[in-house]
Amino acid sequence: MKLEEEKVYGAFKQKFFHWFLSYDDYENFSNVITELLLLLKQELMIKQAAFFVFDPLNKSFYPEAITKSEESHSPFCHQILPDNIKAMVDDEQQTIQIHEDEKYITAQIFLRLSEELIGMLQLVYDRQLFISRRLLKKIKQDFSTLFRKFRMISQGLSDEKRYEQLHRFAAKIHSSMKIDDVLEEIINTLKQVYPSFTYYLLLSHDNQHHGHLPIKPLVFDESGENMAAMQAFLTGRIQFEDSISLRRSVLYAPIKGAQGVYGVIEIMAPYIMEFPKREINFISLLANTAGSALENAKLYEQSRRLVADLQLINETIHQLNANLRLQDAIEFMVKQIKQSFCADEVGFFWFEGRKRKLLPGSTPFFQSCKSKKYIEFVEKKMKTEKDIVFVGDAKIHASLSVPVYHSLMAAPMVQNGELKGVTIVLHREPYHFTFEMFKLLQSLIQHSTLAFTNAMLREELEKHVVTDYLTKLYTRRYLDEQIKTSMLHDEFGTFILVDIDNFKQVNDTYGHQIGDHVLVQVANIIRSNIRASDIGARWGGEELAVYLPKVSLAVGISIAHRLAEKVRKETHPPVTISCGISYWKKNRPEEAKDLFKRADEALYAAKRTGKNCIFVKDYVRQYKV
Ligand code: GH3
Ligand code: MG
Ligand code: MG
Repeated sequence: MKLEEEKVYGAFKQKFFHWFLSYDDYENFSNVITELLLLLKQELMIKQAAFFVFDPLNKSFYPEAITKSEESHSPFCHQILPDNIKAMVDDEQQTIQIHEDEKYITAQIFLRLSEELIGMLQLVYDRQLFISRRLLKKIKQDFSTLFRKFRMISQGLSDEKRYEQLHRFAAKIHSSMKIDDVLEEIINTLKQVYPSFTYYLLLSHDNQHHGHLPIKPLVFDESGENMAAMQAFLTGRIQFEDSISLRRSVLYAPIKGAQGVYGVIEIMAPYIMEFPKREINFISLLANTAGSALENAKLYEQSRRLVADLQLINETIHQLNANLRLQDAIEFMVKQIKQSFCADEVGFFWFEGRKRKLLPGSTPFFQSCKSKKYIEFVEKKMKTEKDIVFVGDAKIHASLSVPVYHSLMAAPMVQNGELKGVTIVLHREPYHFTFEMFKLLQSLIQHSTLAFTNAMLREELEKHVVTDYLTKLYTRRYLDEQIKTSMLHDEFGTFILVDIDNFKQVNDTYGHQIGDHVLVQVANIIRSNIRASDIGARWGGEELAVYLPKVSLAVGISIAHRLAEKVRKETHPPVTISCGISYWKKNRPEEAKDLFKRADEALYAAKRTGKNCIFVKDYVRQYKV
């Protein structure tokens, strides 16, 4: 280096040192460089100085700082074309290039930091101004070191910013317990940090709807298309893939928590590139933070669901215990199941030996024969194959006339280790029920089976209390109660007292057993010829009674005739009956005992006039009908 040059360069360094001491704005790298170049231009008396930063992501140079040129000489006169860049990046010997034209010399000094290309300093100066190669080399050395220091400072500052961002991200996602919030924040942060990239979240076991979020399910693809994503998910390590067809590089970062991997972040670069190590570290930190936040959110949602499930079971049991009528209990359960699982049909079946009984309160579909195939399918699975019944896409009914239910689940009603019955739940859509729902259904049914059995036993007991053991008609006491209630609430009613004619003779002729049998036959005729709201009862001995609430006298008489005729025709050995009828109307001062008394009187009249006939006792008169 010439002495003159050395002096000039020494003066430049000195001035730079002075300037640097008084300068504060280190954060703005561009300004610092501009100041530096201006000084260089001024001291070396060159036309223009420019600094181009090398972008390893794009593999190109872009101008960071340029001093203004007094003349219209473009600093880009020797711009490096993208094609040349690769050669330059690979060639470590590339240090200084000199281009000359008739007026100017352009020196391009490539700055490297331990082999890594960081940028290019371009100096344009008059041909007359001879700058030695040694000076250019010196400039290269000094500027390389200087830029390394600058870069460390600015990188430190930008790292600080990044980690601040990461910190904000972490604080934000850990403050929310909603999975969607966490997912949205991951995407937002990535967009802020790398705006030109494309992102997807690949989630496993995700059956929720996330609306606007770029979420794809992570599924195993046999074609091996998503090998790298799967690999990231399975190994829990970051994976890279260059998509030649899309001309993009893709990074897959596993979203990892303490208990497992929940999904993968797919980051697509806009071109083929190598992801810098710093960025990989940052993305990996972000993904791990997201993983633990997602895990927390999932655990929270899980515990909330468990609490809700327990509340449902608790509330159900509470209701069932308070609400002991079987039909009410089943109706309540059907409502709960429909509500909790958005089910279309719910059926409760009780097994009695080889028969099965549909419990009242089940949805009407189960009363139709269309439901038979579903029930048989469930019964076979449960009884013969001893299998669980949880089907996502059942192909049970091919017929078009039958509504097709694709989703099917069933829970057994077990008591003392014995299969007592089954609950069947259906939905039209396939894969409607989740396994969580299935488990919840099982616990609901398991907890409520005892309540059903109790309700059934209680109702059976009640029936025993109000039923005559021989004829299976109601007891007289129950009849009394029902008439009293009817007289309080209804407008009118008819009472028929029935006595088998010459019954003593039947007993004497055929024996008591046959006598009993005849009595049962007459009772059966009565039961099957009146409605469920009517009351057939055993009045005492071979005397039976029928009370018809809200039935007029005329209708009552025709019912009595029908009964008498059927008894005449259908009993073996054949017997006849005599009937005494009375009736009441509102606003007449009468009681049940008055009704009984008049019917008794009518019956007495019937017996007296030759039996096998029907008499009515009105308020005043008595007549044969
Ligand atoms: P009438 O036509 O006047 O009613 O004559 P009857 O023989 O039916 O009347 P009676 O009151 O003389 O006799 C009733 C008989 O019915 C007497 C009794 O042994 C018989 N009896 C009452 N309850 C039962 C029963 O539960 N089973 C049987 N086998 N017989 C009964
Ligand atoms: Mg009799
Ligand atoms: Mg009698």
